[in-house]
Amino acid sequence: MLRAFFKFLWYVLWALFIYKMITFFKKSTYSPNKNKANTTVSGEIKKIKTYKDPICGTFVDPSIAVVYEHKGEKYYFCSEKCKEEFLKRIEK
Ligand SMILES: [Zn+2]
Repeated sequence: MLRAFFKFLWYVLWALFIYKMITFFKKSTYSPNKNKANTTVSGEIKKIKTYKDPICGTFVDPSIAVVYEHKGEKYYFCSEKCKEEFLKRIEK
């Protein structure tokens, strides 16, 4: 009885090991291809830290964003419009 239990445990461990191996290989084989395909899209986004526009909620690249400093904190906007909207809101 105990032996059967250990045998079962052994199988479970093996199954886990194989599962881990499969997921590991999936990661190592799939992701580089994905990265290659998306280098212009997600690859760059990952490298550059983006900031959330507090008005419209889009993530903006700080190098192209409209930056506004308010009370020592920097805010990044996708456009002048959003910045103006923000200024209106903080004036209130
Ligand atoms: Zn915006």
